[in-house]
Amino acid sequence: MIHPTDAALSAFKSEALALIGLANVLSGDDTSLYDVDFWKQYAGKSAFVLRPNTTADVASLVALAAKHGVAIVPQGGNTGLVNGGIPDESGSEVVLSLQRLNRIRAVDPAGDYITVEAGVILAEVQKAAEAADRLFPLALGAEGSCRIGGNIATNAGGVNVLRYGMTRDLVLGLEVVMADGSILDLLKPLRKDNTGYDLKQLFIGSEGTLGIITAATLRLVAPARERVTLWLTVETPQSAVELFRHCRGVFGDLISSFELISSYGVEAACTHLPGVRRPVSEPHPWHVLIELAWTFTTGLRERAEAAIADLFEEGRVIDGAIAENEAQRQMMWRIREGQSEATSKIGYVVRSDVTVAISDIPALVARCDEFTAEFGPEVAVLPFGHIGDGNLHMNFVVPREKAKELAPRLFDQLFAEVDALKGSISAEHGVGRAKRDAIVSRKPEGALSLMRQLKVTLDPQRILNPDVVVRVNQKTD
Ligand SMILES: Cc1cc2nc3c(=O)[nH]c(=O)nc-3n(C[C@H](O)[C@H](O)[C@H](O)COP(=O)(O)OP(=O)(O)OC[C@H]3O[C@@H](n4cnc5c(N)ncnc54)[C@H](O)[C@@H]3O)c2cc1C
Repeated sequence: MIHPTDAALSAFKSEALALIGLANVLSGDDTSLYDVDFWKQYAGKSAFVLRPNTTADVASLVALAAKHGVAIVPQGGNTGLVNGGIPDESGSEVVLSLQRLNRIRAVDPAGDYITVEAGVILAEVQKAAEAADRLFPLALGAEGSCRIGGNIATNAGGVNVLRYGMTRDLVLGLEVVMADGSILDLLKPLRKDNTGYDLKQLFIGSEGTLGIITAATLRLVAPARERVTLWLTVETPQSAVELFRHCRGVFGDLISSFELISSYGVEAACTHLPGVRRPVSEPHPWHVLIELAWTFTTGLRERAEAAIADLFEEGRVIDGAIAENEAQRQMMWRIREGQSEATSKIGYVVRSDVTVAISDIPALVARCDEFTAEFGPEVAVLPFGHIGDGNLHMNFVVPREKAKELAPRLFDQLFAEVDALKGSISAEHGVGRAKRDAIVSRKPEGALSLMRQLKVTLDPQRILNPDVVVRVNQKTD
């Protein structure tokens, strides 16, 4: 990290005030919303918060930060889960919120793209695409709060990755403010452009450490005019994986989501979330939420019903339901998305996000069950997630007063199991500060060294989110 003097911070602040005005430079209690993350898992203390309105303002503010040697933490919707978007506790980092860069610059259904500023809320991007009879397929539980710049900076995944890929696969172009305050315009809506290195890729998933994304051109896809949402129950994670293999064969790329939910998660949602009911009458060990979609308006449901009848006949599922209307569909998704909220009424939720090969999911669940049992009955494991991507959120519900002691031990055990299966300790949430040290022993030294070289080259003063993802010099930082 860098240590600016009080004089440098106060000179930066008064020059920022002159540039964007008093209402957009927040201090004292006004910074509290920017200093704590969505789930209140992490807290820091900013020197002050800047709220620019244009790319030019962002560029001028970053140039000022560089001049005064002050660290900047870019922030979108503040829904990130790995402690990357809030400042550290030093009181010397400045939050740069992108929320006021919230314009939709262009929607082109013929070119199948949309150009938006970094602060547009993800749900607003989806709505703008829908208004143009197109789909912007990035979808996740935080879509009403997270901002597209944050989605790109974290290379967010979500519930449609199976069919449409990660955020990276949806980005055609970017506008980025570099660490010296210059603007890099890579905003072309081109599908093909092999003129050397694909520089925009450097910034996707870089978590605000290499540049500040101010706008993006995003790929749109054909609308999903008919959707079929299925809720099926199975005996074991192995049956769920086999069900996935089978459904892939039947429905191919029409599957947009294939989500696994444990009995514990379903029952917690039905108990603690108002108005939520289990879609099937009896409790079952494992539940699978599947969504199919296509561009035609009819015909998919009949195909799905025929396929489900076969599933029952072949004994692949125990019970199931098909959403009859949008309200039932929303209820199914509420259970899927509401598990963290529901279980946080029971205890402290230790959240994780890991990935293994799809066929290794049953082994991972079994090993996590085993080691969780060793912690005794006060710790419960809550696996759920994107089984079609091999990505599970292996959460643990622990007594609040023991969270500090138990969380690191649970992570150590979980990560050891993931390592044994040659998986990754971050599937879609990123690294932030939370996993920064844990990736060091897990990435090849050549890869880490290249990451550090990139950081030093693009941000020689280390003013952009200096503590996040990778430390340039682990010993002296
Ligand atoms: C209820 C809930 C459900 C979620 N579900 C999912 C899910 O299914 N899949 C998934 O992948 N994630 C999920 N997340 C995590 C989170 O929503 C994503 O990481 C999201 O992409 C973060 O966007 P944000 O705007 O909130 O970013 P922030 O939290 O503000 O920032 C995240 C990181 O990006 C950097 N950053 C933000 N904006 C910019 C910018 N313009 N330029 C450069 N750097 C920037 C920040 O410095 C920080 O390092 C979920 C979170 C919650 C709370």
